[in-house]
Amino acid sequence: MDADQARAWVEGIAAAVRERADELTQLDAAIGDGDHGVNLRRGFDAVTEALAGAELPTAGDVLVKTGMTLVSKVGGASGPLYGQAFRAMGKALQQDATLAEALRAALEAVQKLGKAVPGDKTLVDVLVPAVESFEATGDFAAAARAADDGLRATVPLQARKGRASYLGERSIGHQDPGATSMSLVFAALAATAPDPGR
Ligand code: ADP
Ligand code: MG
Repeated sequence: MDADQARAWVEGIAAAVRERADELTQLDAAIGDGDHGVNLRRGFDAVTEALAGAELPTAGDVLVKTGMTLVSKVGGASGPLYGQAFRAMGKALQQDATLAEALRAALEAVQKLGKAVPGDKTLVDVLVPAVESFEATGDFAAAARAADDGLRATVPLQARKGRASYLGERSIGHQDPGATSMSLVFAALAATAPDPGR
């Protein structure tokens, strides 16, 4: 992935977040506090602005800048989680990791910070199958399909992490907002389609 591809990916996520912000916020209103779309839109608007003026020679530089901006601009649970994910992925690429290794580093950063495991009804339920799929296939389209399957699988789960966990059994039957936004990340990656494995 080169710097232009990383910019295209991040801008693809930003466009999807803007388009789907109301839906993300409604999903969060059902089992959280109704700010997920607002949080991410504010964050990615800041990312767009930060990237526009910055000289960033490599994909790793672009993703580190994206992560730092999200950490500093987005509150709630999702800001630090998304921020650390992009930062870890960027740092890995700066150290010549493959894309599969960099995605694994993002997943590890999210789990280190948030302590969620698959089945807790969080964005980890999308991140884990998507990363595993990419590791196995090197195919971004396959990873995006795995992400969508993971997203749908959050509906019947009871939340065990984040605000939705306060609802106990009443969180069952709702799609997780953070898992929904994470599926947009992999859809945007598939749409950007950098050369597999590079
Ligand atoms: P907040 O819950 O602080 O209002 P957001 O609404 O922006 O933050 O984000 C909520 C989403 O964050 C949830 O739908 C869930 O996917 C994700 N999330 C919350 N806590 C965790 C955690 N510990 N690990 C991973 N993801 C989490
Ligand atoms: Mg919220």
